[in-house]
Amino acid sequence: MKLNISSIPKVDKVLSFPAVASLLERHPKPIVLTAVRSVLETLRMDSREGILLKAIDERHLCGLIAQELENVVAPSLRPVVNGTGVVIHTNLGRSLLAESACRQILEVAQRYSNLEMEMATGERGERYSHVEALLCELTGAEAALVVNNNAAAVLLALSGLAAGKEVIVSRGELVEIGGSFRIPDVMRLSGGILKEVGTTNRTHLKDYQAAISQETALLLKVHTSNFSVVGFTAEVSVDQLVRCGTEAKIPVMADIGSGSLLDLSRHGITGETPVQEYLKAGVDVITCSGDKMLGGPQAGIILGKRYIVSKLKKEQLLRALRIDKLTLAALEATLRLYRDEREAVAEIPTLRMLTMQPAALKAKASSCLRQIRSRIPSSVKLKVVAGNSQVGGGSLPLLNLPTFLIAIEADNWPPQRIDAAFRQCKTPVLGRINKGQYLLDLRTLQHADIPALIDAMSIFT
Ligand SMILES: *Cc1c(COP(=O)(O)O)cnc(C)c1O
Repeated sequence: MKLNISSIPKVDKVLSFPAVASLLERHPKPIVLTAVRSVLETLRMDSREGILLKAIDERHLCGLIAQELENVVAPSLRPVVNGTGVVIHTNLGRSLLAESACRQILEVAQRYSNLEMEMATGERGERYSHVEALLCELTGAEAALVVNNNAAAVLLALSGLAAGKEVIVSRGELVEIGGSFRIPDVMRLSGGILKEVGTTNRTHLKDYQAAISQETALLLKVHTSNFSVVGFTAEVSVDQLVRCGTEAKIPVMADIGSGSLLDLSRHGITGETPVQEYLKAGVDVITCSGDKMLGGPQAGIILGKRYIVSKLKKEQLLRALRIDKLTLAALEATLRLYRDEREAVAEIPTLRMLTMQPAALKAKASSCLRQIRSRIPSSVKLKVVAGNSQVGGGSLPLLNLPTFLIAIEADNWPPQRIDAAFRQCKTPVLGRINKGQYLLDLRTLQHADIPALIDAMSIFT
């Protein structure tokens, strides 16, 4: 039977086609119906726009439905191949977890756990206790608390320490992170009153001093993690701000965002002050993310003086911002790796990728090339080229890490077309386009990505 534009069949008719009937034996009817309706709707729209010029037959139609059904039953949240070279890519899920963190998630997910019970007494415990001592051991903090993410950590700290009171912040640090986190907005939400001092490019100690009053609850320093102000600039150092706070008996808070626990300058990564340095300088409370430079799951980490953390633990808001048990399992396992710096760098994917040296990346490129080359038509040209990768996740915006990339060139395939086709593969592949070239950065390609990459190459055949 031929179906042409004017005779796109009714749903009931389609359900009676043998190929669709066999789908109904394997899948619940509402799901098959969803797929059928979606395909018919697309055909109708195409025909209205004059796109569907040739008639389509029953076999073709059933093929489209089976394909659509596969999309409907496939998970929406699924792996992608990150060939962008951006290690902490917020839109692609930020940090990958270490093996031990993944194992710990499974362990805690499939069985009951001591999440909130003290086994010694059988009494109710705190979920935070599973990471608090470890965080204190690793950072030198007096006390620690973990929440859903860093935005929640900042909100909780401001709300608990400064509701109805003033918080002094430099105008150069009123940051926006990823569109949905803005210091002035979080401040408003917390009930704190933002008191801006200084100018966009220059803020001096005397600006803070002049702004301090009976109403001041907190001096806040925000890490300008995703941009850099250069030229005629001045900012007050953490040391200076701590001295100022101590003199005025006002606590100092630092939102440091990315939260690095290691000094990675040995690996060529400079510019990110480790968490420990802030605490050593005497900052009273700091907040950072679990899934940026730390390389763990999405979480917000609060570290600081015991009296402050104790106060925050009593906040009603904490109940709404609390960390989930699976996150806690992954966070604890990740933190344990930090007890041995070498182990942390080797096992935590974010650190491993950031510290990968060009020679290793070049070798990885050649090996990857060997594996995919045999699967593509000879008209597609692959070559290894040198370039730079970015840290991402609002960390170290100016740092360029030397890397190696695979450039893909094919006749009639402008880079934008490769990009669009790769993104629509079953396991989508994301690369980047530079100077008219489609590139895959080896820094963020995983070993497990090779089959998906080979699969994606079938767009050229
Ligand atoms: C990333 C960042 C945040 C937001 O952290 P999330 O964990 O994404 O909620 C807040 N402040 C700074 C300075 C950051 O860099």
